[in-house]
Amino acid sequence: MCIFCKLVNKEIPSNTILESDEFLAFHDINPKAPVHILVIPKVHIDSFNEVSPQLMAKMTTFIHDVVKEVKIEKSGYRVITNVGENGGQEVGHLHFHILGGARLKWGHFSDADPQGHF
Ligand code: 5GP
Ligand code: ZN
Repeated sequence: MCIFCKLVNKEIPSNTILESDEFLAFHDINPKAPVHILVIPKVHIDSFNEVSPQLMAKMTTFIHDVVKEVKIEKSGYRVITNVGENGGQEVGHLHFHILGGARLKWGHFSDADPQGHF
């Protein structure tokens, strides 16, 4: 079982912010911003590649609820999902990072060299 499935099953403790039948939001163990939340579906999905538009629609509503819960919807935030090796995905269970609580320093889309890939 993957680490986030264990978290859903409460085999590993997590600092939960919001929970629904289908989703869980909790604090990232290694925060990169004053607010760094992970949002996951409770069902195991490997990555954004495998998620259905139907589940994404519900996840969007859940993410809206989370940002309101921690009161960053007006000040702003960033939603990121890393996919696969080049995306830097470390945990193979779909998750969305919600980062906020301060002006985020990383002001661009990527820190990769844009040359020579196509
Ligand atoms: P990725 O690199 O896959 O996009 O992000 C994985 C994230 O999961 C990282 O930001 C990492 O700090 C977080 N993480 C890994 N293991 C745990 C854990 O056991 N608990 C919590 N709360 N976060 C975790
Ligand atoms: Zn899983």
